[in-house]
Amino acid sequence: MRDKPNIVVIGTGGTIAGRGESAANTSAYECSVLTIDEILAAIPETAPLANLRTEQLLQIGSENFDNGHLLKIGKRVSEVLKDDSVDGVILTHGTDTIEETAYFLHLTLKSPKPVVVVGSMRPPSAMSSDASLNLYDAISVAIHPDSRGKGTLVVANEEIHTARDVMKTNSFKLEAFRSPYGALGYVVEGQPRYYRAPSRDHTMKTEWSIDELHALPKVDIVYAYGALDEDVVGSVASDARGLIFAGTGNGNVAERIVAPLRAATRDGLHVVRASRTGNGVVIRNGAQPDDDYDWLVVDDQAPQKARILLMLAMSSHPHERSALQAAFYRY
Ligand code: GLU
Repeated sequence: MRDKPNIVVIGTGGTIAGRGESAANTSAYECSVLTIDEILAAIPETAPLANLRTEQLLQIGSENFDNGHLLKIGKRVSEVLKDDSVDGVILTHGTDTIEETAYFLHLTLKSPKPVVVVGSMRPPSAMSSDASLNLYDAISVAIHPDSRGKGTLVVANEEIHTARDVMKTNSFKLEAFRSPYGALGYVVEGQPRYYRAPSRDHTMKTEWSIDELHALPKVDIVYAYGALDEDVVGSVASDARGLIFAGTGNGNVAERIVAPLRAATRDGLHVVRASRTGNGVVIRNGAQPDDDYDWLVVDDQAPQKARILLMLAMSSHPHERSALQAAFYRY
């Protein structure tokens, strides 16, 4: 019989692995320098919670991550989860793209075991750093039975978020993470309290397994603004197979951009209308006649997460636009 749950903590860098010259450096510091063992050694309160096994998979700021890093992280987490003696996984991660990696894991892992992605806004060396508490809370969440079957979770600032919804919404404050429909729950004094569960399909119920993914199709994002030039469509990478158009308001497309986007669609590019507002839904056949133009809409997903979902959907349906559209309403 086990004394405590077995949790694997995988380090990838970020501010949680950062160090400033002085404790007053809350926003200016060196990222990705502390190993996962050094980070944990500074939080002795974690030891009684679980048997912690550590791995240093990467040591880089998450702004540098590409699709290769997503695949590498996903495959390693999947391998670790297959070990019957492992009860859950924690991934320490830079906060810049934490929501993208977490969403990718949420859609591609095939396990009900808790997977918690955690970072911090201030390095462990800073005054009032959130690193220790966030990691301590992440372990509390990973060992709790209520966390099973909820997909990938992001723990920050005493809140538990579903990977589907969470977004980094502030560049420096501790309360940086928000989910449009609210967090799933809190962590209070090391005890998770859930108030709701993810309703869209994830992990066991998706059509993708990380073990079978070896490459991801290229999807670009174009961000709309008042004077956006029609040449922007030509600047999309020639090997891109999909384009998330982060339009103004309800996924609006300036009149001068419509013709080049339609031409790109005829050439085989999947065009998905999203919104740069960060909240709300994009209505199909609302601002644009999507049926006529063969365009897609994101439902409510943010552009950076729509990119993850479109890459996965295209990996199983490279050409079938109705199946791609269905994925946005299902996940
Ligand atoms: N470079 C960091 C990153 O990996 C900055 C943000 C952070 O970790 O808080 O995303």
